[in-house]
Parts: sequence; C-alpha cells; structure tokens
Amino acid sequence: MEDDSFELYDLKVEVVHRDTSRPMVCRHQVGDHFYLRGGNLEFPVERPRFGYYAMLAVLPFLMAKQRPTQRTDWMSTDAEIGCTDPNCGGAFRITRLDKQTYRHSEYTKEALPPA
Ligand SMILES: [Zn+2]
Repeated sequence: MEDDSFELYDLKVEVVHRDTSRPMVCRHQVGDHFYLRGGNLEFPVERPRFGYYAMLAVLPFLMAKQRPTQRTDWMSTDAEIGCTDPNCGGAFRITRLDKQTYRHSEYTKEALPPA
C-alpha cells in the first residue's frame, strides 16, 4: 500500500502589541492565544477566549502556515497579521511548532492522484 502520509505544523496564534504608538482598542490582551493542531483549535483553560474579529483576521492564513513552504516563500517568513481595526496596535503572531504526521486516508475518501 502506498505511503499516504503528509505533515502539518502545529500552530500557535498569539496576540502581540506590535504598534505601540496605537492602543489595543479591541479588548485583546497581549498573550491571548490558541493552538491549531491538525483540524482542531485548542484554547487554554485559563483564558479560553479569542476575539471573533481577531479570528477573522488570521483564519485565511492558518491553512497555509500549517503546510511546509519553500524557504523563499513569504509565507515562511511573515508571521504577524495586523488587527482588522485600523486604530488598533494589536497583531496576531502565528508561530510554527512541531510537525505532525497525518494520513490522507484518515482525512478523506477521495483517491490519491496517480504518482
Ligand atoms: Zn485590535
């Protein structure tokens, strides 16, 4: 049987105060964070919240940041997403953690393309 494994990074998404000339106006708190492991979001027990608008800002990037990219790809280096509120100095840092191995057959019933 063909090896159908693939790898994804675990991600940590964390609030940072990137532009200190502007206040954090969205009630984010520096250090608020969550993890994305495979297809699951995990929130810390001690602070299980992350702003809805903040989530909207980072969601488009998470699937790309989970996947290995070329060293020269900007997705490999750029890791902070600005807050959607132009008056807010907050940003959301996406950090790649360990890679985990998954299997195609555990995620879909679609056939692999020919090798
Ligand atoms: Zn904000």
